[in-house]
Amino acid sequence: MKPVNTTMAGLGTTVFEVMSRLAIEHGSINLGQGFPDQDGPEDVRRVAAEALIEGPNQYPPMTGLPELRQAIAAHAERFYGLDYDWQSEIVVTSGATEALADCFLGMLNPGDEVILLEPLYDSYPPIVERSGAVPKYVSLQPPEWSLPLAELEAAFGPETKMILLNNPMNPASKVFRREELETIARLCVEHDVICVCDEVYEHLLFDDLQHIPIAGLPGMRERTLRIASAGKIFSLTGWKVGWIEGPAALMSTIAKTHQFMTFTTAPNLQKAVAYGLAKDDAYFEGLAGDMQAKRDRLGAGLKAAGFDVLPSDGTYFVSADFRPLGFSGTDEEFCRLITIEAGVTAVPVSAFYRTGKVEHLARFCFSKQDSILDAASAKLADYFGSGSG
Ligand code: PMP
Ligand code: GLN
Repeated sequence: MKPVNTTMAGLGTTVFEVMSRLAIEHGSINLGQGFPDQDGPEDVRRVAAEALIEGPNQYPPMTGLPELRQAIAAHAERFYGLDYDWQSEIVVTSGATEALADCFLGMLNPGDEVILLEPLYDSYPPIVERSGAVPKYVSLQPPEWSLPLAELEAAFGPETKMILLNNPMNPASKVFRREELETIARLCVEHDVICVCDEVYEHLLFDDLQHIPIAGLPGMRERTLRIASAGKIFSLTGWKVGWIEGPAALMSTIAKTHQFMTFTTAPNLQKAVAYGLAKDDAYFEGLAGDMQAKRDRLGAGLKAAGFDVLPSDGTYFVSADFRPLGFSGTDEEFCRLITIEAGVTAVPVSAFYRTGKVEHLARFCFSKQDSILDAASAKLADYFGSGSG
């Protein structure tokens, strides 16, 4: 038989699935894959349920229900002062993962270079490669995760077509500061580069930090594709409703790409997300506030268990250095060990790197009930001998 596609055949199974399966197999508390253990707002789910019964349940318009695209435009204006035309500048997708694929497949030609900042969400590299483009990796290193300016400047060249920015950044839990965004923006403008900004954690910033979409910086609106995910905004990750906001000149090709990826997304979910985006400020503030309290709770538990806990400015995640526990193996070995022996699952941070070597951190997801976070901390403390009992 002739060979299947080499990029796809060469992939392993995503670390999130691998660790979730291992967690199920060993009955451990799963703080690996990033998802809340309690479903988001009941009123939003009720709108989806009612729309499912009342219908229509046929294909919605290809770029999304008008009411959802209007709600997305209103959300961008309300939170960031960004002005997008709902008809020509917004495309609803089946999750941010599809949105990313639409951006890569729709914008890139073979031979184009794409700057990817590590650590990164694992769907980026394969789809960039599948589009025939060439990833250029720039690594951010713990514990500061600061942007390596000289390396970043050097990565930009005549073939650079795109940079992918994930802000807030998974799994570094980094929120890019204005000066860093200005540097990236300057380089994008100087080199005429498209910026795809994966902002799925836009409403999960802590300690009064404000989300700054790079699309709002001078010269960036016309070259930025902003990606969002209702899964993260409403703690409904299984819904897989996302979207892209961008200039009409790029969005027309994004829409044509989307039409042959999924064409559309479940209409009842779209309707419910439209409803949810109009929620009052208290909802959005409450989401970040609740998650910040969970960050602090798990962070304190991990610290008490003997980890060196890194800062987390945003996302669902906190990373912890396990070397103070006396473990000298790799992060993969560590995550398997704690799953099987301590009954707690995390994901190894090395899974988010392609070139940089970072093998001493485990990423823990804190979007869980307090009792679960406490139980996980207690199990780790017991296993590593720092428990009170
Ligand atoms: N980007 C990042 C950085 C993520 O962490 C995730 C996964 N949660 C996604 C994109 C994918 O989002 P979605 O579930 O909407 O496809
Ligand atoms: N993005 C999520 C995480 O970082 C997982 C998404 C997935 O499982 N595909 O954990």
